[in-house]
Amino acid sequence: MSVFSEAELLLDVRGLNVDYEADNGTVHAVKDVSFTLKRGEILGLAGESGCGKSTLAFGVARLLRPPAITTAGEVIYYPRDREESSLTHMHNLPVVDGGVDVLSLTQRQLRAFRWNELSVVFQSAMNALNPVLSVGSQIIDVLKTHWPGKGRDYYTKRAIELLDLVNIAPDRLKSYPHELSGGMRQRVVIAIAMALRPELIIMDEPTTALDVVVQREILELISSLCKEFNTALIFITHDLSLLLELSDNIAIMYAGQMIEKATSYDIYKHPRHPYSYGLLHAFPTLHGEQRKIAGIPGAPPDLRTLPPSCAFNPRCPMAFGPCSTIVPLLQLATPGDRQQVACHLYNHEFSQRIPETEEIAASYEALAEGSISR
Ligand code: SF4
Repeated sequence: MSVFSEAELLLDVRGLNVDYEADNGTVHAVKDVSFTLKRGEILGLAGESGCGKSTLAFGVARLLRPPAITTAGEVIYYPRDREESSLTHMHNLPVVDGGVDVLSLTQRQLRAFRWNELSVVFQSAMNALNPVLSVGSQIIDVLKTHWPGKGRDYYTKRAIELLDLVNIAPDRLKSYPHELSGGMRQRVVIAIAMALRPELIIMDEPTTALDVVVQREILELISSLCKEFNTALIFITHDLSLLLELSDNIAIMYAGQMIEKATSYDIYKHPRHPYSYGLLHAFPTLHGEQRKIAGIPGAPPDLRTLPPSCAFNPRCPMAFGPCSTIVPLLQLATPGDRQQVACHLYNHEFSQRIPETEEIAASYEALAEGSISR
């Protein structure tokens, strides 16, 4: 059966669970996470440190190492039939629901999958370039390994094209990483990630070490490259404001669960989950009305001992009856809505009325003023 498809759907993640086995207990880093990604879509993954966003992305890419274990779920990838992808020439790919079953790929199949179909830019990637090799030879190494036998001239020409793609002059091919600025090194890393024209790139906090001006340049570059090549991107950051500009859709994680997924516009205009609201308003705005910043009280829970309730309950200014005894599931906020949320406020069984964003804002203000406590 062919697994190649030109349809819009690129990735379908279903019920993914990832644990870390530790001496003092099992850490449930990713819990029952499901989402889909279309070709060319930019999905932002946001949340506090330790919420499971990197573990989720690396679980999808099969990059986790023990003590991490994927205990449940499926990752289904729908490749296109492309001459330049070695997956196209591979037989016996494991299949589930008409796509490639990523969690069942053999090591050989995984090597063909990575770089060709999916590449990853890690945190502090600009410092991960080999300091004793020129940037040109690092780009050519990737091309030679995955597209062997094409000749030196082809590789050099392609490396120059890739540098040009990220606005770096061809004479920099011979430069060593220490001869480049932080922003240029980051652009080289992006060029390497794009080298084999993958369908999907995962970027984990790629701009954290850069100043804000360079950060903006890099984000604009990433956005235009994704549009030009119809490349899908999963962009991980704790900085929700970055995602609002860059992403088509945003998924917010808390305590290993996806607690809200919506378009960037919807998250910005009317975040539904109280945690999303808190995250969005945890930094001052430059424009508009002045308001008191309430912040989110408390700290994230211990992922070894999650209670059978809403994990955000101890910090939530909107908590009510069922929040302390029932785990909310990710579902549409209202029938026909585009916004998915895991919160009992949007469950008809428990709540008769959908709260307005202003009510969530008021609850945080009441918390800041001390009229309610958590
Ligand atoms: Fe707050 Fe309850 Fe919603 Fe959890 S389920 S976010 S505690 S209102």
